[in-house]
Amino acid sequence: MENNVFPTVALANGVAIPRMGFGCADFPERPVLEKAVAAGLEAGYRFFDNAPFYRTEAQIGAALKASGINRSELFISTKLPNSCHGLEDALKAFDRSLRTMGLDYFDMYLIHWPCPKQGKYTEAWRALEKLYKSGLIRAIGVSNFQEKHLETIFEMAEIRPMVNEIECNPYLSVAAQRRFHAKHGVHTVAWFPLGGPIGAIEPPASGIVDESDPIQAVLAEIRKANLNKKVLLKDETLAAIAAKCGKSVAQIILRWHIESDIIPIPKSMKPERLFENSRVFDFALTAHDKAAVDALDHNRRLGPDPDLNEDLAVS
Ligand code: NDP
Repeated sequence: MENNVFPTVALANGVAIPRMGFGCADFPERPVLEKAVAAGLEAGYRFFDNAPFYRTEAQIGAALKASGINRSELFISTKLPNSCHGLEDALKAFDRSLRTMGLDYFDMYLIHWPCPKQGKYTEAWRALEKLYKSGLIRAIGVSNFQEKHLETIFEMAEIRPMVNEIECNPYLSVAAQRRFHAKHGVHTVAWFPLGGPIGAIEPPASGIVDESDPIQAVLAEIRKANLNKKVLLKDETLAAIAAKCGKSVAQIILRWHIESDIIPIPKSMKPERLFENSRVFDFALTAHDKAAVDALDHNRRLGPDPDLNEDLAVS
């Protein structure tokens, strides 16, 4: 099993982060999640991207423990909820996640959204610095921060964010923001790396949406706002490149992330897709194909606007 573990890259403080992660959001049932984690580990995933909002911290923590894999071989990350940006609240939220996942440290901890109307993300950053200095987190960063939010952090930070986790894929390649990250030693981690949950764009096969589930409610909102938009995984240009390379469209997209120095965190609840998505470290795109994927960018955002998203309901 060890041979196929994904390659890593060094963060600004030298900590090694895997070049691809396992998205932990949007799992319907515990047995499905447990099977996916086992398959993911077998396929080589070691970086698990979580957040209290996904409501899978306890199950992911238990499944990782049950796997018997050494804690030191895993890279476990979670996020600070939007409702906990005050210093004390942030420290408590961190402790809650640690206990929920059954851990004694996190490899990475991120501020989930900047929530600029609350105006407290610098206070939240102080909390992350404190936890980092006390050895409870190996790397700290942010998520959904725009350049202006990062600049505010740079002005007050003792330790700069090592990662910014943002919506990013060939339809929303945010090249300027990625250049800004690279200039400041911030690694880009991509959520919705495959273009987002199919369920956010196409109605669920059952036609039934459980809006009492916060994730399903967010997906329903996204679906309403994006009716009839193109599904990245069905893009014709990507399909042609995939056919030529003998790869799937998902593999072409993930390879584009890797070659663009982006760390994608694709999610699948299906073991066969987790294996398929893992096989992206043994081929390369030609310069021509890489440029063709770059050219698909049309700034198409599916998820919430980082400036407006203040109120994600979190546990
Ligand atoms: P993705 O772009 O990863 O898309 C996942 C969708 O693609 C699922 O519907 C999945 O279906 C499907 N899929 C996966 N692999 C394949 C394949 N090989 N072929 C066809 N379909 C495939 O979007 P996600 O929303 O799932 O995002 C990934 C992760 O990003 C989340 O799990 C979460 O960890 C993180 N995230 C972070 C956010 C943040 O604010 N920081 C916001 C949103 C997400 P199926 O499961 O049925 O295989």
